[in-house]
Amino acid sequence: MPSTDLLAPGHRTCAGCGPAITIREVLRAAGPDIIVCEATGCMEVTTTPYPESSWKVPWIHVTFENAASVASGVKAALRTQGNDHTQVIALGGDGGMVDIGFAAVSGALERNEDILIITYDNEAYANTGVQRSGATPFGASTTTSPAGEDSIGKPEWKKNLPMIAAAHGCKYVATASPAFAADLQNKIKKALSIKGVKYMHILAPCPIGWRSDSSQTIQIAKAAVQSGMWVLYEIENGNFKRTFTQKTKTVKEYLTPQGRFKHLKDEQIAKMQEHVDNTWKELENLEKSGVNLVRIL
Ligand code: SF4
Ligand code: MG
Repeated sequence: MPSTDLLAPGHRTCAGCGPAITIREVLRAAGPDIIVCEATGCMEVTTTPYPESSWKVPWIHVTFENAASVASGVKAALRTQGNDHTQVIALGGDGGMVDIGFAAVSGALERNEDILIITYDNEAYANTGVQRSGATPFGASTTTSPAGEDSIGKPEWKKNLPMIAAAHGCKYVATASPAFAADLQNKIKKALSIKGVKYMHILAPCPIGWRSDSSQTIQIAKAAVQSGMWVLYEIENGNFKRTFTQKTKTVKEYLTPQGRFKHLKDEQIAKMQEHVDNTWKELENLEKSGVNLVRIL
């Protein structure tokens, strides 16, 4: 690990912010020869209160919708200059990439732009008051899917953007977690060594939205992976491979430290456990089968 951070301290994220830890790990792996185009979101608002910035690399703030489009344009400009070494990263939260900027992400994937698209996923629109997003999981209480007498929280399952990226024929797709730093950094390095479009999706706990203790961020990120709620994998040229294969925790153990799930009853937790077990088995079978995802999706 390099001893210097490319995200300077003194920014204004909440204590224990998972996205802040995630971005530090991403930048350590990517190194200084990059340009980051970042959509509106928590990590934009908190790292750049005018006239200050925590970014020690070139960084462009773009609107919610178009991080991937601006990154495509920046890459084209570099190409015109004859610069073939600077890497361009389109960065956004789940609001910016899974929902509002989805069209731009899809366009860049389809055009096979030579950029790395990264979603840091805290499973809600956290900086505007924790509204539900397409990436919010089933059963989570948010300000626009509040749990109550007639509501279990969000009734839909989480949107699966990594698999949607794979369906575009993306050369390299990976999921990651800040609790598995070496795995995350290896994936960033691998992604940046590949020409063409790459997509990474990183689950990053948010103590505010998840209503968890700020000292528990990494433990919760780890439990997400250990329970199978968040599966770590790579899809390289269509070949699916898990990078962590031990399921040692129950879904309930993952949910318990998080206030956003505290209203859930045993039968709803059992439904989530069943969903996770089925997905785990399907992904295991997919890996064993050797089926090429890019060909079949
Ligand atoms: Fe980080 Fe959540 Fe605070 Fe945003 S609201 S800065 S994601 S902890
Ligand atoms: Mg978010």
